[in-house]
Amino acid sequence: MSAAPVTKVVIVGGGTAGWMTAAATARIMGEGPGFSITLVESETIGTVGVGEATIPQIIGFNRLLGIDEMQFMRETRATYKLGIEFVDWLRPGHSYVHPFGSYGLDMLGIEFQHFWLRGRTLGDEADIDAYSIAAMAGKAGKFDWPRPDTNSPMSKLAYAFQFDAARYAAFLRRMAEGEGVSRIEGRVVEVHQDGESGFVTGIELDSGKVVEGELFIDCSGFRSLLLGQALEVPFNDWSHWLPCDGAVAVPCTLGGKNEPLTRSTARPAGWQWRIPLQHRLGNGHVFSSAYMEREDATDMLLANLDGQPLTEPNQLFFKTGHRARVWEKNVIALGLSAGFLEPLESTSIHLVQSGIARLMSLFPDSSFSPVEIARFNEETEREYADIRDFLVLHYSATERDDSEFWRYCRNLEVPDGLKEKLEMFASSGRIFRENNELFTEASWLSVMLGQGITPERYHPAARLLDDQETLKRLTHIREVIHQTVDQLPTQYQFLQNKGGAIPTDARLSA
Ligand code: FAD
Repeated sequence: MSAAPVTKVVIVGGGTAGWMTAAATARIMGEGPGFSITLVESETIGTVGVGEATIPQIIGFNRLLGIDEMQFMRETRATYKLGIEFVDWLRPGHSYVHPFGSYGLDMLGIEFQHFWLRGRTLGDEADIDAYSIAAMAGKAGKFDWPRPDTNSPMSKLAYAFQFDAARYAAFLRRMAEGEGVSRIEGRVVEVHQDGESGFVTGIELDSGKVVEGELFIDCSGFRSLLLGQALEVPFNDWSHWLPCDGAVAVPCTLGGKNEPLTRSTARPAGWQWRIPLQHRLGNGHVFSSAYMEREDATDMLLANLDGQPLTEPNQLFFKTGHRARVWEKNVIALGLSAGFLEPLESTSIHLVQSGIARLMSLFPDSSFSPVEIARFNEETEREYADIRDFLVLHYSATERDDSEFWRYCRNLEVPDGLKEKLEMFASSGRIFRENNELFTEASWLSVMLGQGITPERYHPAARLLDDQETLKRLTHIREVIHQTVDQLPTQYQFLQNKGGAIPTDARLSA
């Protein structure tokens, strides 16, 4: 006999996670008979207020919601992002781009990097960025949409957005409310649980009102009100691998060059982000409090802005890791309440999105099947661990030894999966993507090379092309990319032409 469907969903929290969940759940499940979604949030508590750089998967999320890209660009003051520029991470004075999309052309059935490695032994010194349309367009400040024509390098480009986090949440809120989500303003003061099963039955607000539900989605941010506090699901702490635990964030007026790239600049005890939007720059300094005082981190941030600060610096504290089970009983945590991996590769909003996708595919009925819950938790844990390994790579593979922090990082005992990946690449240039993990072979390639890991060998099949043919093909690929980038519009021309640019007065009055 089938169990009754779940029809009453309550979302606690109205940050990016809460409104993404509300909008997507309403779009996918909202037509069901008697189905209701209620979101509770507290304006006095507010949101974390950061989270402005994304990765290409967000395009699929926006499409699922039927979002018009140009309306979205205008309303969230968004710019395009073609990758991340890492400055001073390998050593001071060095930089590289982790671009979206892929490199060069695979040939003879083997990956492009093997031909690039062979080219180096033949005297071709062009760095790998020259073979990425996204890296080259990004550095040139150019943008256009990818094209399906596989003869064009534009088929190798992928993109994401950089947006104003508060505007994105407001945008999604309008959509969600338009799809029938009810919003309640109020502070949750108590969580009611069933005496026998421990299932959450309702949340009590400061007004005394109790909001009852069958499925509770905890989007309450770092507080993790339901999963962490009420259900006491423990936190797996990964800070020995990723020792940053604090951040200072401040927006500033536009200044400097604003390419469609997020920039991450290494600092003595962490790194600084720079996210160019249409009307302002988002900036922040992520640091380890074991190696730097908060006041020094704040001063360093303020001394390294390309414009005038627009607000007082926002102080943030975090612990890296995740809840041991993000789905427990009838509570699922999404967003910061589930866990946090520092924002080096802009993965948190994606984790919300993939959690929503997982929730949609495993949406429970009133039996809350343990098999489905276990599946949800296993997949989530694997996803966190894969991203963690990719982040650890940036810190552990470095030549920097100019501060205590960097000496700690370069001597880290890295997780086993990462160790194997590094050994494989360093010896043979091969990269394997495990279990459909988030980061592609191209992403691993860019960061492993960028962080100074040079393979000793390459695939033997790369020798099947003779020397002259190898060099000729490499030169041709570079030239085609170069010519294509030359012809692209600048990002701002593109936004103007397509209707995504904000008015000039809005650009100048952030
Ligand atoms: P929050 O924004 O904190 O929202 C929590 C919600 O819960 C709020 O509405 C709050 O009012 C509500 N709430 C809490 N307690 C109660 C209560 N008692 N009663 C009622 N309501 C309550 N992600 C990226 O993808 N890209 C980035 O570039 C990026 N940069 C980041 C930089 C830093 C320094 C940090 C810390 C995070 C960054 N993130 C980034 C992560 C990103 O900000 C979050 O994943 C995203 O904003 C989702 O946050 P959230 O909605 O889970 O939490």
